[in-house]
Amino acid sequence: MAAEKPTGEVIIARGREGPLRRLHPWVYAGAIAEVRGTPEPGAIVDVKDHRGNFLGRGYYNPNSQIRVRILSYFATKIDEDFWAERLVRAARSRERLLAGTDAVRLVNSESDGLPGLIVDRYGDFISFQALTYGIEVRKKLLVELMAGLFSPAGIYERSDVGVRNLEGLEPFKGYIYGKEPPPKLEIREGRAKFYVDIRSGHKTGFYLDQRENRLILAEIAEGKEVLDVFSYTGGFGVHAGLGGAVSVLFVEDSAKHLRWARDHLFLNGLSDLRAGFVAGNAFQELRRLYRERRQFDIVVLDPPKFARNAAEVEDALRGYKDINILGMRLLRRGGYLLTFSCSGHVSEELFLRAVMSAAVDVRREAKILRRLYQAEDHPVGLTFPEGAYLKGFLIQIF
Ligand code: SAH
Repeated sequence: MAAEKPTGEVIIARGREGPLRRLHPWVYAGAIAEVRGTPEPGAIVDVKDHRGNFLGRGYYNPNSQIRVRILSYFATKIDEDFWAERLVRAARSRERLLAGTDAVRLVNSESDGLPGLIVDRYGDFISFQALTYGIEVRKKLLVELMAGLFSPAGIYERSDVGVRNLEGLEPFKGYIYGKEPPPKLEIREGRAKFYVDIRSGHKTGFYLDQRENRLILAEIAEGKEVLDVFSYTGGFGVHAGLGGAVSVLFVEDSAKHLRWARDHLFLNGLSDLRAGFVAGNAFQELRRLYRERRQFDIVVLDPPKFARNAAEVEDALRGYKDINILGMRLLRRGGYLLTFSCSGHVSEELFLRAVMSAAVDVRREAKILRRLYQAEDHPVGLTFPEGAYLKGFLIQIF
């Protein structure tokens, strides 16, 4: 691919250049005074202030509220080498993690200087998402580069996500390079092994973002009775078992994923672990466990995203408070709560307030032992706070 010359200029309205000067990578429609030239959707454009000073270079989408996503704050040539270097730079920063796992996020979108692109490695396979028009139109090139740089056995696309609509794109998924991934691809995470279905698993197959937090659970699980709520395929519970838990009860509303949790116990040599599997709505099932006077030493609460946008934050906070009340009531004195929110729109402090008010409601004293975040291979660009979404707390409850 020859270097793409900018085919247009996007002029920022006077007084609206602040975010770009602070290296934030998004240009909203409302910040634009004028578009010069006739850039096609996905084309490279230069962004300038009203005096004509260069602010950044990125790709354009007239059909998105985010009109430009910045690729460089310099007049960098956007050619094949540019994309290759960004991919390599991102992958290199994960190399150290490969000592402990063979499933990592190689590219985390804006925070890796590749807005709209998610690339996850699962063993020999790659699963990726193209979330924006600018990435969609360069997919062929990017897949060729990934094939050459990472030598995967196969590449599978998981762009079956609703956010593509905001870019004027339909959801899509399908196999696009090399071998088709097996329906049960085995990956390794610390001492644990898991099966991943790249074609139909959640996200791109697995919740890689919780890796570090699952390992923390393993550290505290020795001799404990553990409740793994919103367990998906049992990630937390399996690590608890490997860490020496005496029992694990999994709660998950998808019976299929619960069956995988059971398979994962066998896969990890934990068939003798005292394990229970409850398929159902966590809110109801936790109430039922309370009525049955069940108690645990550790409760993990890893719910799906409760707030998809700013308007849903208030309801989400009520949901977080409720589920935390239900979880806390099931804990013995001195027990541990591992509680999470993956709603980007709910800040850490708001989430903490919801958890605190749950503790007040159940009149239990509690203390934060650790603040928890998304794993290191899901970095947050320093000038892109939107990249932070997963937060949690390890709390001891008396
Ligand atoms: N802890 C998991 C990831 C959890 S993702 C891991 O480490 O891999 C959230 C899970 O909650 C999903 O598997 C989803 O199917 C399940 N879920 C969503 N709503 C639920 C509900 N009301 N009750 C129980 N499970 C629910």
